[in-house]
Amino acid sequence: MRFAKLSERDRALVARATALLKTGESEISSVSAGLRTRNDREYHGLCVDPASTTEGMCAEFSAIGAMVTGGDRKIDTMVAITRKGRPAYRVLPPCGRCRELARGLGNPYIIVQRPGADGESLTKVKLSELMPIDWSSRSK
Ligand SMILES: [Zn+2]
Repeated sequence: MRFAKLSERDRALVARATALLKTGESEISSVSAGLRTRNDREYHGLCVDPASTTEGMCAEFSAIGAMVTGGDRKIDTMVAITRKGRPAYRVLPPCGRCRELARGLGNPYIIVQRPGADGESLTKVKLSELMPIDWSSRSK
């Protein structure tokens, strides 16, 4: 797997997604997502996960919905932040459903937490590396 270093813009994206979660978290929102498009616009979203139902919507879906509503179609870089676990406010890799959705909107970098000899560090990896065989490849 080929990992890439985060840019300053990537770190700012992580910081803004974390800030959104800290201000917007609630009993139905424990994850935020941020994405940057290929034309340098940013969109963010919170998950919607009420305990009263088995249905829920990932934060990445919210951010992608905002992006499409804003007129953009291609993701350059995406990150999700969770308040659950230790440490709180850590990067969360996208679930399979979000990977499939994002793959249909480009082959973005996904910011991930990578374990290493000197602790975990933030890095990024192309979505095609996280999901080498996607749904769309079935029809090619
Ligand atoms: Zn998801």
